Amino acid sequence: MATSPFEFRDPERAKQLAQAIRRWAPPHPTKIVHVCGTHEITITRHGLRSLLPPQLSVLEGPGCPVCVTSTAELDLAVQLALEGVVVCTFGDMLRVPGSRLSLAEARAQGADVRTVLSPAAAVEVARENPGKEVVFFAVGFETTAPGTAAVLLSSPPDNFSVLAAHKLIPPALEALLGLPGVEVAGFLAPGHVSTIIGVEAYAPLVERFSVPVVVGGFEPLDVLYALALIVRQLSQGRAEAENAYPRAVLPQGNRKAQQLLEKVFYPAGAHWRGIGPIPNSGLAIREEFSAWDASVKFDLEGAPGEEIPPGCRCADILVARAVPTDCSLFGKACTPTSPVGPCMVGSEGACHVWYRYGGKPEL
Ligand code: SF4
Repeated sequence: MATSPFEFRDPERAKQLAQAIRRWAPPHPTKIVHVCGTHEITITRHGLRSLLPPQLSVLEGPGCPVCVTSTAELDLAVQLALEGVVVCTFGDMLRVPGSRLSLAEARAQGADVRTVLSPAAAVEVARENPGKEVVFFAVGFETTAPGTAAVLLSSPPDNFSVLAAHKLIPPALEALLGLPGVEVAGFLAPGHVSTIIGVEAYAPLVERFSVPVVVGGFEPLDVLYALALIVRQLSQGRAEAENAYPRAVLPQGNRKAQQLLEKVFYPAGAHWRGIGPIPNSGLAIREEFSAWDASVKFDLEGAPGEEIPPGCRCADILVARAVPTDCSLFGKACTPTSPVGPCMVGSEGACHVWYRYGGKPEL
C-alpha cells in the first residue's frame, strides 16, 4: 500500500522525535554533518534546527555537487565550449564561476552550451548534430553517475563524449574527519546516494574512525528520526552504520547500478572545490570507453585556478567549519541573482538554501 506523505509531516511525531533528540544529545557542543543539498532544504525549509537543543548543530558539508566541482574541471568545459564543441550539462552548472568565465558567460560569447536533464538527452543532442562534437559535462555523486555509465554502455555516437567530474561521497566524509577544526561527531548520510551504494558502504569509515553514520530520507520526520538515531548512538557510546531510510535503502544498495559504475569507471583522485585533492574520490573512465572520454579525445589536462572568490567563505562552508551567515557578503553582495561564490549558485548550495528558505520555518 502506498504511504501518504502526510505521515512524514505529523507534528506530534515531530515533537516526540525532538524530545528524544534533546534527551540523547550530548550536553557539550556537538556537530553533526550532512552532505546533501536536499537534506539542507528539508532542515531549513521546515525549521528543524529550531527543534534541536542549542548545543547540537547540524551543518551541510560538501553536499552540493555543483559547489564542489573544481575550477580545473569547469575551466576544461569552458575551454571546449569556446573551441566550438557543444557542451551539455545540468542547469545549475552554468553560472558557477570558473577561473576566467562561467559556462553561461561562454555562452554569452557565442559558445554552444546547453542544459540537459540527463546524459541520455546529451546523447540525443549528439545524434541530432552529427557534424558537431558534443560533450556531456558529467557532475554529481553516486546518484547521477550510473546514468552516465548507462549511456556509455549503450554505444553512443562517435561525436559524443563525456567530461567526467563525478565524485564519491564516502571518501569525502573520510577527508572531513581528517581536517583540523571540523570535529564531526556523526554523519547524516544522503538517502539517494545510499540507495546506490547501500548502508554497508559506510562500514569501513565507521570502523576506522568510530563515528556514527545514519542514512536518512528527505521528509522532515525522516531527518529528525535519523538525527535521533545519531544522538542515541552517541549517548550509548556506539558507532555504527545505521539505516533510518529502510523504505528506500538496502544494506547492500543497488547492485545493478554498482555494476554499471564498475564496468565504466574506476576510482581516481579528484579535486574538490574548497577542500582540495581527495584520493579515490572521483570516477575516471576505463580505457575500453576512451573513444567517448573527452579528456582523451581532446587531450585535456586541467590546471587548478582560483577556487574561491575573495571574501567568500564557501571553502569553510563546504567543510562544515562555517554557516552561510558567517559570511559578510551573504544576502548583501551575494544573492541567488548575483552570486559571488558557488555555494550561492547551486540550488543545493548552503548559501542558496539559507537565502531561499531561511527564517521561514513551517513546522
Ligand atoms: S554568501 Fe556568497 S560569498 Fe558568502 S560564502 Fe556564500 S557563496 Fe560565498
